[in-house]
Amino acid sequence: MTERLSDNRYVSDNLSRIREEMQEACLAAGRPVDAVKLLAVTKTVEPERINEAIRLGVAQIGENRVQEFLKKKDDLHLDGVQKHLIGHLQTNKVRQIVGQVDMIQSVDSLRLAAAIAKRSEELSITTPVLVEVNIGGEEAKSGISPEELEALLSEIAPLKGIHVCGLMTIPPIFEKECEKRKIFSKMYQLFVDIGAKKLDNIDMMELSMGMSDDYREAILEGSTMVRIGSALFGKRNY
Ligand SMILES: *Cc1c(COP(=O)(O)O)cnc(C)c1O
Repeated sequence: MTERLSDNRYVSDNLSRIREEMQEACLAAGRPVDAVKLLAVTKTVEPERINEAIRLGVAQIGENRVQEFLKKKDDLHLDGVQKHLIGHLQTNKVRQIVGQVDMIQSVDSLRLAAAIAKRSEELSITTPVLVEVNIGGEEAKSGISPEELEALLSEIAPLKGIHVCGLMTIPPIFEKECEKRKIFSKMYQLFVDIGAKKLDNIDMMELSMGMSDDYREAILEGSTMVRIGSALFGKRNY
């Protein structure tokens, strides 16, 4: 029992600190203090801890894997909580996840977008998605390249059952603050440039970037949603 209490205290302390730092970064950037949403990344975290974060007001959660989310979701207190799929999605898992989450953040191909659109139409829903951009051009990472982004968006735009609401990125790991800011700034510029083109059925409202080690820099450069796992729940045990 004592352990459980201290466990909860741990999440609550972390959450307070993260919220404070998010507000400070907003102020430093001259942005409203509520300009950025906090998405709690819950992969490998037990339902009890996730529920504690929800009790403390976390309103967005994100899971990487379809299977893990479906297994845990009945144990979560998800009333009023937005659920996101943030990990790479295989086309053969689309059937299982569409309709179960409020947003899919990791669309990076026409094939995947078309599968999501088709399944959504079968369910008579529209699925909000973000398109994942591989801003650092890393070989091993998923995401569309910045150069191919606009072409992909114009192919997704006519699909019914899917609505692009913005972009998501996982940048390379940098040590220096100036390097972190530079890559986020590049991503923000892409977000603004695409937005300015006013493509039909493509909205640039959400820019999901920033994780435990770089969320301050991401907020300084225009993120609208940070995805935080280990800084909130502690180191992950895989
Ligand atoms: C795991 C994960 C995160 C959170 O990472 P932390 O460094 O623990 O905050 C954010 N986004 C995605 C896509 C992830 O897979």
